[in-house]
Amino acid sequence: MKRLACRDVGLDCDYVILGDSNEEVTAKAFKHAWEAHAISAEEMTSDMKTSINENIVATE
Ligand SMILES: [Zn+2]
Repeated sequence: MKRLACRDVGLDCDYVILGDSNEEVTAKAFKHAWEAHAISAEEMTSDMKTSINENIVATE
């Protein structure tokens, strides 16, 4: 499993995204950003996208 804490991307949020692959976590992160923070994929800065990729960690 892979996990990503929304907080690590720079948002004041306790949501943690889990997925089987980086691609799945990234897709869910984009969905969460839109649903919870009203940030669309088009509005997302490249820094934020980089931060998503860098903060995905492997978990048990
Ligand atoms: Zn969030």
